[in-house]
Formats: sequence, structure tokens, C-alpha cells
Amino acid sequence: MKTVVLYPSLGVGHLNPMVELGKVFLRSRLSVIIAVVDSPDAMGRLATANPDITFRHLPVPPTGKDKYSHPIMRTIDVLRVANPALRSFLRTLPAIDAVVVDMFCTDALDVAAELDIPAYFFFTSPLGHLAVNVHLPYNFPAVSLKDMPETMLHFPGVPPIRAMDMVTTVQDRESDITRARLRQCARMPEVRGFLVNSFDWLEARALKALRSGLCTPGRSTPPVYCIGPLVPPGNTGGSRERHACLEWLDTQPNRSVVLLSFGSMGIFSEPQLREMARGLESSGHRFLWVVRNPPEHQSSKSIEPDLEALLPDGFLERTREKGLVVKNWAPQMEVLRHDAVGAFITHCGWNSALEGIVSGVPMICWPLYSEQRMNKVHMVEEMKVGVAVQGYEKELVEADQVEAKVRLVMESDEGKKLRKRLAMAKKMAADALKEGGSSYMGLEKFLEGLKKSSPELKA
Ligand code: UDP
Repeated sequence: MKTVVLYPSLGVGHLNPMVELGKVFLRSRLSVIIAVVDSPDAMGRLATANPDITFRHLPVPPTGKDKYSHPIMRTIDVLRVANPALRSFLRTLPAIDAVVVDMFCTDALDVAAELDIPAYFFFTSPLGHLAVNVHLPYNFPAVSLKDMPETMLHFPGVPPIRAMDMVTTVQDRESDITRARLRQCARMPEVRGFLVNSFDWLEARALKALRSGLCTPGRSTPPVYCIGPLVPPGNTGGSRERHACLEWLDTQPNRSVVLLSFGSMGIFSEPQLREMARGLESSGHRFLWVVRNPPEHQSSKSIEPDLEALLPDGFLERTREKGLVVKNWAPQMEVLRHDAVGAFITHCGWNSALEGIVSGVPMICWPLYSEQRMNKVHMVEEMKVGVAVQGYEKELVEADQVEAKVRLVMESDEGKKLRKRLAMAKKMAADALKEGGSSYMGLEKFLEGLKKSSPELKA
């Protein structure tokens, strides 16, 4: 039996996708070990839920949180410091066929090279983002992106991207984090291959650019294996009971409800919440809205939002027949799969985008943090699975804009076209995963590559 070690970077947001990948590998009869540096609680829960996967916690010396200029600098540093523990652990295993790391674990490539283990990246963002990342070291502008926010940047295989829509970590070329990320991007082609949570049809242009070598001039691009869309099975809140919002959706007409949900961390200021409420109300459409406390009330994350105080006077009463506001968390995947949902206002996290696609729900893109602005560009310009709200980069998206985009998707001909496109994307996503489909074959090719190289570990 082939053995694959998966090595996610810090945080549950990186661990969860690796577990999903682990499940795919299990179905392909690989033996799966996930080596985890942090998140012991989540690891415990996931280990109980996935008894066929071996979880191993790697002990890493503590690093302070305060000394870093950016949270991802800490991630990179912790993972670098984790290398000896990773090396010792890998040495205890009799044979390993591959190590699969995620995007911030570049330093682990040194350990893999030293032990002669083939290393792969698992990329949990759009393929277009991979095309940008590997190309970035070749044409990184001499001026900081933050100083030329409106300039269009051009990369092979993807639509032009406004500088301000690039990931936040590469905005300031003088910063530690931008330098560190560029170094990581430059090392990406060292791996044996890229496993990507996307599918060929959705991002055909980026795939072509990567495969033809355009993204890494003068250097070969490792093979790209699109194996997605991998989405969580649903019920990510951890509860077994059916959520009340699903019962509510049961009573709503087909495709009539607009879902508003903004990832694991999306929060809005109080004025923004009020604009959203006004926009929703004046659109007249039904909605299911996941609301969290605004940053100014986030002293304790567990505190539930006081909806009466946060939303406009009388809003909840006036929209009682049409809307449901859920505090903090809703089972998004199950909600999206419900027939009553007709549109999805999303922060453009890649999991959310894929969940919208597999459910065939048109999206209204409202990017908030990290790479989401870039995801928005790919989603709107390339995949054509959504439209964007205007003003997401400013302090406030106004109520009129919320209303306009909801009406556009729910009422207009353009909305109809978008719905058709999503029905197509949903079908293509399902086809990709079927036996013989592109993602099925992507996985097969990856597995074939493993068969060819079955290294014994170097002493
Ligand atoms: N999610 C959920 N309920 C919520 C908010 C988020 O189930 O109220 C899930 C969502 O379905 C997705 C994940 O949390 O699987 C968020 O991942 P994504 O990549 O979209 O965004 P991130 O949280 O990483 O910004």
C-alpha cells in the first residue's frame, strides 16, 4: 500500500481541506497520515471523525505571537522551526511515497528533498491563482502595488487584475511578508506536481498557460492535477441536528431566497450591516442572512449579536415573513444545496465559491480579506459564475448597490444568463468527478506518478 503524508500549514482553515484530500486518497486505497503542527482540538475532533486516517501531532517549540509583522510571517516561521520535528517523524516511517504540503509549507520541501521523498503542493485556491503565484517572481512590479492600486497587472492565462485586487500579502514590496511570499512563490516549481481543488473546464485558460510553460519562463512547470471540486460534506458546524434555517427554507418557494454568508471570519461594521439590511429590504426578495457582531463588538467572539440593536429599527419585524437572520453560523453547504436558494452573496473564499458552483447558485461577490479580491476577479471575469458589488474596496457598499445586485441576479435577463451558466458549471463539476471525468483522471494520473516512484527513505 502506498503511503502519503499530508502536511497542512497552521489553522483549521488549512487542516480541513487536507482532511478532505485525505479522504480522497483513502478511497484510492492509499494509506494517509496527516502531520499537524497546531490546532490540537480540531485535530482530535477530526481524528475521531476519520478513524482511517492517522493523525500525528508534531511538537514545535513555542514562538511568541507579538514579534511578527504579519500573522503569515508567524505561520512561515513556525513551519520553518517545525522542520526538525517533521524530519524526525518522517524518518520513523518505513517508506513514504509522497509528501503533500500546502501553500505556506515551502520550507518542508527542504526536508522532502533531503529524505528523497517526492513533494507535491495541494493548492486550495483557484487554479488562476496558482498561475499568478508561479509567475509573480518573474514580473513583480518595481513599485509597491499599494502605491498603484488602479494599475492593471497581466499574467498568462488569467484576466487582467487590478493591483489593489491582488492578495494583501504582496501589496508592499518593502515588507517582510511580501518578500517572504515572493521567495515561496519562486520555490513552487520545485515540487513534483500540483494537486488543485478546481476542475479543468472551470479554468481552462489558466490550465493551458500552466501546462504550456508560459507561467514559468525558462523553467519547467510541474504537472498540474485538477482533482476538484472537493467540498465538505455539509454540517460544518459540528451539530447532528437539522439546523432551524433548513426547516425555514423548506417553507420557501424554489430559488426565491438570497443567502448572505461570509466565511469563517467575515464581519462588517454596524453602518455596513444597516446598509445591507436596507438594501435587502428594498429589493423585496427573501433572504437568509448570517450576521455576526461587528468588529467594535468583538471583545468576545462567543457573544451573540444583538440583532435588534444592530439592524435598522423595525427591520426584523417588517421582514419577518420574508427573511431569516441567523446568528454567527449556518450550515452553508446544506443551505446552498436547498432548492429554495436562488442567489448567494459571498466573500469569495474559495470553499464558498466551489460550494456555490456545485450547487448551481449564482453568486454576488463581496470580497473581504486575504485572497478574496483575486478570487472575485477569477469568478467574475473568467469563470463567469458571479457579479461583483461595487464599492467593496471602499468603506461602505451602499444599500442601493445591494438592492441593485440582488435584483440583477433574481430578476433580470443577465441574472437568467448567470443562472444558466451556473447550471452548466454544476453539471460540469459533477461530470469532472465521475469515473473518466477530468478530475477523476487528474487523480488517476497523480496516482500513476506515485507508482513510478516508490522510494525507500534515505537513512
Ligand atoms: N461556513 C459555514 N457556515 C457559515 C460560514 C462558513 O458552513 O456560517 C463554511 C463554508 O461552507 C465553507 C467554510 O466555512 O466551507 C468557509 O471557507 P471559505 O474558503 O469560503 O472561507 P474562509 O472561511 O476560509 O475565509
